[in-house]
Amino acid sequence: AAGTPILEVRGLTKRYGGVVAVDDVTLTVPAGQIMGLIGPNGAGKTTCFNMITGAIAPTSGTVSFLGSEIQGRKPHVGAEAGLTRTFQNLQVFSSTDVLGNVYMGRYRKGRAGILRGMLGLQGREQYRHEEIARDILETMQLGDVSGLAAGDLPFGRQRMMEVCRALASEPALLLLDEPMAGLSGREREMLATLLRRLRDAGLTIVLVEHDVAQVMALADSVAVLDDGVLIAHGDPESVRNDPAVIVAYLGTD
Ligand code: ATP
Repeated sequence: AAGTPILEVRGLTKRYGGVVAVDDVTLTVPAGQIMGLIGPNGAGKTTCFNMITGAIAPTSGTVSFLGSEIQGRKPHVGAEAGLTRTFQNLQVFSSTDVLGNVYMGRYRKGRAGILRGMLGLQGREQYRHEEIARDILETMQLGDVSGLAAGDLPFGRQRMMEVCRALASEPALLLLDEPMAGLSGREREMLATLLRRLRDAGLTIVLVEHDVAQVMALADSVAVLDDGVLIAHGDPESVRNDPAVIVAYLGTD
């Protein structure tokens, strides 16, 4: 239900030798909201994502997803429970067509169906996965390029395609790492509109983003990291006016 936490991190900490990349972060993500995670370069945003998804184990602290503690578990544990992420760098199968790239997002939803497809036994199940992938591409206005090799698409459309693949897994929580990077103004607007629609349909989204104006316009709540420390968390308006946030972005030292 809206308002119930879907993700809770408590005391999340990651040390690399003497560097504290993430320092005792405690944060709750309520269901059905878009949360923006912002902060200057090196603030610890990606390290947070990596600990939430299980790509790296925290030095200390807990990650609770839908009520289960998953810190230190392999990424597939969260993925199977409905936690899907995108990466800062494109993760695209260049020579596979766009539909195939999105279809791969169905993997955990239909191993059997995909296996049948690989064996050449086109089943009802596989057909359904393909239909879902096509529907998502249509929604993102990528339907007309679904047959092209993904590597032949302009960068911005490859990014959009990655969001489509993430959606194809039907996540409960979607973590997006700089989804706007490299997109044109028009593409950013299109993505923002889509993310709002997904939120309104009940999806919970956390996005790391450098475009602070976009985050402020899009997010229901905003968390700010600086030097590994959570310095502010709240609605966009109060975060925007928080003196500690202003100092962090202006960089006074
Ligand atoms: P950006 O906005 O530039 O992507 P970020 O907020 O995502 O930055 P992180 O990539 O999480 O920040 O990095 C946080 C800090 O941790 C940085 O000081 C970085 O140098 C350090 N760090 C990250 N990964 C490692 C690692 N594997 N070994 C050592 N230090 C690391």
